[in-house]
Amino acid sequence: MRIDLKELRAYPGRPVRSEEQEVLDDLVWCDEPLPLVGAVRVIASAFYDEKRVFLTLNVSGTCVRRCSRCVLEFEEDFEREELLELELDDPSAPYIEIRPWIAAEVRLAVSPRPLCRDDCRGLCAGCGADLNVEEHREGCVEDSPPHDPRLEKLRELL
Ligand SMILES: [Zn+2]
Ligand SMILES: [Zn+2]
Repeated sequence: MRIDLKELRAYPGRPVRSEEQEVLDDLVWCDEPLPLVGAVRVIASAFYDEKRVFLTLNVSGTCVRRCSRCVLEFEEDFEREELLELELDDPSAPYIEIRPWIAAEVRLAVSPRPLCRDDCRGLCAGCGADLNVEEHREGCVEDSPPHDPRLEKLRELL
């Protein structure tokens, strides 16, 4: 997505709003690919002042995540808005390409620890069972109740 600088320079301080769909198909976040469902909806409002562009960027969309507890894939909706101050390397350039900032906002918008649902019970560290759909497998150490020394003593007496 491009912001037309000629228009902004002509009226310093006056915001120009634009809206576009940006396709980001190669996004990576913390070594995890971030496949987007459809395009990112971008609303940009920008004004020019003393060789800088003040850009209010709103991004929203949907991406495919993997649950951090049970590894199930699910779709996460995201939205984020931020005011950015962009220093222009070349103040006479006809436009700026804001794709890198859009990508950065999407990375910040998605959850750092995605969960398929708030109460996801996840995979058992002991037996690998998916606790959302099954019980612990036989002999799982995580399943046995905590060791109680008083019961041991009682058994000795009996
Ligand atoms: Zn989950
Ligand atoms: Zn288990």
